[in-house]
Amino acid sequence: MKIAILPGDGIGTEIMAQALRVLNALELKFETEQALVGGAAYEAHGHPLPEATLKLAKDADAVLFGAVGDWKYDKLERALRPEQAILGLRKNLGLFANFRPAICYEQLTHASSLKPELVSGLDILLVRELTGDIYFGQPRGRRESPDGAFKGAEEAFDTMRYSRPEIERIAHVAFKAAQKRNKRVTSVDKANVLETFQFWRDVVTEVHAQYPDVELQHMYVDNAAMQLVKAPKSFDVIVTGNMFGDILSDEAAMLTGSIGMLPSASLNEAGRGLYEPSHGSAPDIAGKDLANPLATILSMAMMLRFSLNQPEAAGRVEAAVQQVLASGLRTADIWSAGTQRVGTRAMGDAVLAAITTKTITTKG
Ligand code: NAD
Repeated sequence: MKIAILPGDGIGTEIMAQALRVLNALELKFETEQALVGGAAYEAHGHPLPEATLKLAKDADAVLFGAVGDWKYDKLERALRPEQAILGLRKNLGLFANFRPAICYEQLTHASSLKPELVSGLDILLVRELTGDIYFGQPRGRRESPDGAFKGAEEAFDTMRYSRPEIERIAHVAFKAAQKRNKRVTSVDKANVLETFQFWRDVVTEVHAQYPDVELQHMYVDNAAMQLVKAPKSFDVIVTGNMFGDILSDEAAMLTGSIGMLPSASLNEAGRGLYEPSHGSAPDIAGKDLANPLATILSMAMMLRFSLNQPEAAGRVEAAVQQVLASGLRTADIWSAGTQRVGTRAMGDAVLAAITTKTITTKG
């Protein structure tokens, strides 16, 4: 089995280095191959997703991705910006289902911006549709406004659209995930205003008929944004479209204290996937040994579990992270009085030490 390693830009290279040290310590029989992506690939090859990188990702059994982007590329034409590499990988690998668990570790309840009692024990799974919606809908562009009060003025437009099969397959993913959890799905939409999301609601309701053991609730996105900060523990699985999922998953991330803790998986219909931390390339702290590598290490654990059929190794990694947090080590983003502040590499050292300690309890 082969893993494509795409570290990317900014803190991407720092956090990936730690994840690879942990992966190597597991002594599994995987081949790994690295390639440039994002700004680094643009600098070297003039494109954020060069052919060779895409081929490697397509041929691999799983892709472990760091992060891409830097504000210095903001003036490039859109197709050449680093973030386009992520969209290209999602589209080319057919990665339509994004899993973002938002788990609040007991040791980090104080790091949340909400009261500890609201987030203690929090365990939400956000399932975001990743290849449709207004992010990919055509037509889009700029033009002279053809009608309305501002006829003749310059305007920009995008197209929101979802087809029945796209909604059906993401709904199945969410219901199946809920069956392995607390059997509750909240489908988030804006059916009161948008035709696309009235259709979404209708199709999700139809698919639900095949999952009588799962409870389905529909919620408007504005209410969902509110409930996430008011009563986050009321959710089990949230399923939603690409744009609402983009926004709500970051909101859910902050409930847990730091985006630096949150892994994610994007899977296609064959179960192959791309695994990456939920955060970006954090240019503000890049190269300073400040980044939290745990989201990437936990993404690597998700990869072992979902795409590489190594649940026991995944459990070892997750247990090691828990052990390190319990020992009081914290990177700056999750630090609080009474805990010990460490840098990126030292956090990697600690997870590595916990992995190689014989006393680790596995929960494969
Ligand atoms: P960001 O997630 O990079 O950073 C947001 C804030 O969180 C910053 O203060 C950063 O220092 C902090 N942060 C992020 N990851 C951290 C970690 N592991 N440890 C500690 N602190 C961490 O988002 P942004 O600042 O909006 O974007 C920066 C760049 O990243 C942009 O170019 C953006 O387009 C890109 N981006 C890439 C991805 C991706 O690669 N999947 C996702 C989001 C943003």
